Amino acid sequence: MAEAHWSYGHNVSGYVPESDVIHVDGWENARIGLRDELEYERDSLGYAEDDDQRAQALWESVTEAIDAVNAATAGQEFLAYTDDGGQHTIPTAWWINVCAEDHETDADGEYREQG
Ligand SMILES: [Zn+2]
Repeated sequence: MAEAHWSYGHNVSGYVPESDVIHVDGWENARIGLRDELEYERDSLGYAEDDDQRAQALWESVTEAIDAVNAATAGQEFLAYTDDGGQHTIPTAWWINVCAEDHETDADGEYREQG
C-alpha cells in the first residue's frame, strides 16, 4: 500500500474530468498545480466585452477560485466551483483530494494514471 498522496483536477459537476487528473506528492504541489490550471483557464477567457455579463461573471468566478486556492488550508482537501452565473450553466468543480489509490510510479517517480 502506497502512502496517501494528492490528486487534483477539474470537471463539470457530475461528469468525468475531460482533462487528466494529476497525482502528486505533497499538498503544496497540488495547490500550485491547481492554481496553474485556474490561471490558464482565466488567461484563456481573454478580455470580456463590458456588456458581456456572463463572460465577466465567469472571469470573476475563476478569480475567486484562484483566491480561494491561495487561501486554502495546507493539508486539507479543497473544492471550488466556477460558473458564469447563467441560469442553465452547470458549474465546473476544481478540487484537490487525498488519493489513496496504490499507483505504479514510472522511472521519474511520477504517478501513472490508472487505466
Ligand atoms: Zn493518485
